[in-house]
Amino acid sequence: MIIKEAKFVSSNTEVAKCPETTLPEYAFIGRSNVGKSSLINMLTERSKLAKTSSLPGKTQLINHFIINDTWYLVDLPGYGWARVSQTSREKWSKMVKAYLRNRSNLACVFLLIDSRLEPQKTDLEFIQVLGTMGVPFVLVFTKTDKQSGQKTQANIATFKKTLLQTWEELPRLFITSAAEKKGREELLEFIAETNDQ
Ligand code: GDP
Repeated sequence: MIIKEAKFVSSNTEVAKCPETTLPEYAFIGRSNVGKSSLINMLTERSKLAKTSSLPGKTQLINHFIINDTWYLVDLPGYGWARVSQTSREKWSKMVKAYLRNRSNLACVFLLIDSRLEPQKTDLEFIQVLGTMGVPFVLVFTKTDKQSGQKTQANIATFKKTLLQTWEELPRLFITSAAEKKGREELLEFIAETNDQ
């Protein structure tokens, strides 16, 4: 897929105010600092489309972008900030769950996982939420340029093993680096394949 156009549409704190569900949408989420903004900018080849590293405590927003006038790219607020209050965490959880439950046009969630780390509790918990709610999702391992291919493969193998303790089937996995533009074609191909339009 060629990204001819990528435009900001809206930022919302309420799911009810998000754009109409007339086009399929693909949502990006992960722990804070996982490389979500960098990945979105790499995919769209727009260096400032998604804002990098927003600070903890800032308003948590659901950001919609429209791509080629045919699908929405959604930047969801990250989780896992160390120093946010319980109230903020609950607010995040309520908003994201409402989003997952109510967007009838949600084609897939891209859950970003830092390829350098061992399986993180917050990521595993979020996978549990997605699975329980029956939301289609894939895993996107980020920042693979930061270590050897061998180390990436070892970390992904550990992640898979951990998932297989609770799940019978593994989701589809993508290996990416925003710095090296790695995985871009595969992700865009996946979106094109699953996009009904
Ligand atoms: P976000 O909080 O998930 O949106 O993460 P950002 O996209 O802001 O990235 C967090 C930090 O990781 C920034 O300093 C980025 O420059 C860096 N980063 C993100 N992706 C990559 C990558 O693929 N490779 C490298 N080397 N650094 C990355």
